[in-house]
Amino acid sequence: MKKDVCPMCGGLKKKSTTSFTVDYNYGVIVVRDVPAMVCVQCGEEWLADEVASKLEKIASVAKKQQQEIFIAKYNSYLLAS
Ligand SMILES: [Zn+2]
Repeated sequence: MKKDVCPMCGGLKKKSTTSFTVDYNYGVIVVRDVPAMVCVQCGEEWLADEVASKLEKIASVAKKQQQEIFIAKYNSYLLAS
């Protein structure tokens, strides 16, 4: 098991939430309330693999919609599987 210590500064990693933003040709995609580990000292963020892959899927769906601004909440966004 990994220690919850930041490799950048040695600070403590804490469970938190962050916002995920992607710029693309048509506009910007924002996903809010994304669960992440955040260093309390330097603010570095880590996403779990499953979180990162869900964000990728949200982004690819959002890009198809070609909205100038796309905003979603991580937990309330359901992906058709
Ligand atoms: Zn840190």
